[in-house]
Amino acid sequence: MTWPNRFLALGHEHYTELTAQALPAPHWVATSDDCAALLGLPSDWAEAAELNALQVFTGNALWPGMKTLASVYSGHQFGVWAGQLGDGRALWLGEMDTPNGTMELQLKGAGRTPYSRMGDGRAVLRSSIREYLCSEAMAALGVPTTRALCITGSSLPVRRETIETAAVVTRVAPSFIRFGHFEHFSHHDQPAALKRLADFVIEHHYPACRDVAEPYAGLLEAVALRTAEMAAAWQAVGFCHGVMNTDNMSILGLTIDYGPYGFLDAFDPGHICNHSDEQGRYAFARQPNVAFWNLHALAQALLPLMGTGDEASERALAALAPYKAAFPQALLARMSAKLGLAQAEDSDRELVDDLLRRMAADRADFTITFRRLAQFNTAPGADNATMRDLFIDREAFDTWAARYAERLRREHSIDAERALRMNLVNPKFVLRNHLADAAIQAAQAGDFGETERLMQVLRRPFDEQVEHEAYAAFPPEWASSIEVSCSS
Ligand code: AMP
Ligand code: MG
Repeated sequence: MTWPNRFLALGHEHYTELTAQALPAPHWVATSDDCAALLGLPSDWAEAAELNALQVFTGNALWPGMKTLASVYSGHQFGVWAGQLGDGRALWLGEMDTPNGTMELQLKGAGRTPYSRMGDGRAVLRSSIREYLCSEAMAALGVPTTRALCITGSSLPVRRETIETAAVVTRVAPSFIRFGHFEHFSHHDQPAALKRLADFVIEHHYPACRDVAEPYAGLLEAVALRTAEMAAAWQAVGFCHGVMNTDNMSILGLTIDYGPYGFLDAFDPGHICNHSDEQGRYAFARQPNVAFWNLHALAQALLPLMGTGDEASERALAALAPYKAAFPQALLARMSAKLGLAQAEDSDRELVDDLLRRMAADRADFTITFRRLAQFNTAPGADNATMRDLFIDREAFDTWAARYAERLRREHSIDAERALRMNLVNPKFVLRNHLADAAIQAAQAGDFGETERLMQVLRRPFDEQVEHEAYAAFPPEWASSIEVSCSS
């Protein structure tokens, strides 16, 4: 294994080197074969005595080449400047050369750091399972995301609303650099450190920006475009992040920091998945605009590198502008695919929006509605009962269905072929809150089997998996009363 650890070259303004706080007698909770394969680890990596992985991924030992540090960042939380934050419980383990490029490994929950503020530096089993399952589920859904290699657990008590137990998640991504890293050095008036960070990100993650006339404006635009793709992927799969603070925005446009997230059950554009978000700032339908707001915070942070005065501001705004076209375009492309449309037409947006309006009016289940849409029969007179049954206002559905059928016939769509295509973009299985809750409750009682089963289902979200029908069912009545807060 080679560990280039390039981040170290940024210098001590950017991080503090420190060691993890040991967790006694750890045990495995879960391991992701897919993530291990991404890293090129041997198939017996978790158990091989010489790798000592259980201790390494708890923070009790290191592989040769690993270095441990916590990085500093700041950020806007719920629209308000929050000052210095940083890796309060994440510990950088180094950058590893893998068959898929250089990957950063991080422990989450390995103890206090200089950036822990009032926190204990720990993560609980509950939130670790949520982060682990969703990271891997999102990757399988084709949504840009950080990954999770494993969870280890311990009996160490951790105080949240109740007493829970400690766990450590190992996260993997090409980089965990956030918008907040840039905001930190800009706000604290450290232009040299800011420039080093921007140059680092350009060199290793956006090399095409090196060759443009204005590299920092180029970087901003490239980040805006990736963020647009990420936001479109979220909206198309019904994912609500819950805490889109600028410190939770990846410079690579990856979904990062899985906390009080949720997948939509009944479609409600105003859905707020984070119980602590009283104003609904991060409600489902607001996510694309919040992402754009966050990009403005990043632009503000990059301003010192983009010249002076109005000229710099104009450059920054011009670099952000492409988001306004890129997001709706990316979303329409995804939604058209969800409807099985092969060729784009001007009226498609209206067709999509109309379906979403009807789904919202009747609180149709987001995932089930789109999955069933694949069985749509375009033959004149077909009643499409399985779809129709999802709507209370059947006549309104019939009106939409007639337009949809007509649209499909116009492009000579063949039902069976379209169904195959649609089943590759409309998942049958998503990580609904009640499914995660069941896995968590079993794990808290010492049984990790349900976490593993759920993971196996979610890593193939588009496959029929008829033996796992129950995981694709409507959520139970009690699911709507699940409250997920920032507590983790
Ligand atoms: P989050 O809301 O999880 O994105 O975290 C916001 C900030 O609080 C980050 O700087 C985290 O590192 C820090 N933080 C959250 N929970 C803890 C904890 N239990 N111990 C230390 N720092 C924490
Ligand atoms: Mg965070």
